[in-house]
Amino acid sequence: MLVLPLQVIAGEPGAAAAGAVPEAKSVDLGQPVSNEEILKSAKTQRPSSASPDEPGASELEESEIPEGQAVYSDALSELNPPNTLLLLGAKVPPATSTRLAWSPSQSFEGIAVPTPVLVVNGANSGPVLCLTAAIHGDELNGIEIVRRVLYNLDPQELSGAVIGVPIANLQGFRRNSRYLTDRRDLNRFFPGNPTGSSASRIAHSFFNDVVRHCDALVDLHTGSFHRTNLLQLRADLGDPAILELTHGFGSTVVLQSEGAPGTLRRAAAEIGIPAVTLEAGAPLRLDEEGVQQGVAGIETLLSHMNMMKGPRFWGNPEPVYYESRWVRADQGGILLSSVSLGEEVDRGELLGTVTDPITNVRVEILSPLAGRVLGMALNQVVLPGFAAYHIGIQASDDGELPDESDPESTDEDVADHGVSEDDLLAE
Ligand SMILES: [Zn+2]
Repeated sequence: MLVLPLQVIAGEPGAAAAGAVPEAKSVDLGQPVSNEEILKSAKTQRPSSASPDEPGASELEESEIPEGQAVYSDALSELNPPNTLLLLGAKVPPATSTRLAWSPSQSFEGIAVPTPVLVVNGANSGPVLCLTAAIHGDELNGIEIVRRVLYNLDPQELSGAVIGVPIANLQGFRRNSRYLTDRRDLNRFFPGNPTGSSASRIAHSFFNDVVRHCDALVDLHTGSFHRTNLLQLRADLGDPAILELTHGFGSTVVLQSEGAPGTLRRAAAEIGIPAVTLEAGAPLRLDEEGVQQGVAGIETLLSHMNMMKGPRFWGNPEPVYYESRWVRADQGGILLSSVSLGEEVDRGELLGTVTDPITNVRVEILSPLAGRVLGMALNQVVLPGFAAYHIGIQASDDGELPDESDPESTDEDVADHGVSEDDLLAE
């Protein structure tokens, strides 16, 4: 991708002094708005990443407020009321909602459409919770989950702030693609590098302009490549703050996973922002049940974090799975499943069949272990080796894993389509 120097797109010179940070227009997020209005409001916002020779409010934010902290304006208390949020070159006063825009500072498309960032800043103080979706552009359920959560929030009732980015990878979204335009997976490049590859620069810009302002982060995903996931959290439970975050989601399964290097949640956790991935459903589909469950999980979290007056308590806690295994099809053909998502299976139980449409040879896929179907392929034509069922293994009461949790099978690097085991986890 052609990359122009920062200065070329820095634009909007002038509004540089600290006091000149424009106040974001307060809008009712639930009210429909025209594209023209969105573009107009994005233009009045200054570029998010201040370039070195152009000191602006972004610089002020970053120099005077410790990294990874909520950007409450202690340093600016004379200029701004308490609880004012400084984000993307705008001030968001307490008890207001607004739409901001984030553009990767390296974009060369003169007409690049900025990525909307929805902000609800509550009347009362509290943490900043960030919700990011569609870092993989073909994962639609998260977009709808963010929309529903943000548009239903009343800033008068909220303590703290919620920042929602419904479509982080707008490039991929417009092409129904998981990837960026250069075929890179954005979720392998965090926290990014301002002088690295295109993907790395985009990641850096997003990480600095948005993610560093969060006190906690939920990154929304779905299964990958025609696979669907039971509503589940992926979380590194060895980190006490992350473990605590997972307790807030009500009736949501938790799968222990450190997260692949470069994933947004891992990069956020590494700078002290507790982060989890919330998986719901399959790519390229909108699954009403998955969306409703995701919304319920996040609203329960808001209540758990004392950001919303509750009690919005959803269901009993679900088990935590400390390990999982992929079960593959050994023959190519038409895969038809016998189990459903979320089902408990015994060792040796029939998961599905693969039938060769030419020879009519049919093979059964049996579960090699007892566990629960956390993810599975949609019915489709598969090649030999296709990872078809993701079985979660629950620890026994004494915390020991059953013998059949053979670690060798999780060591495999490359699965079907040259996709790594990490990619199968779809974050
Ligand atoms: Zn994803």
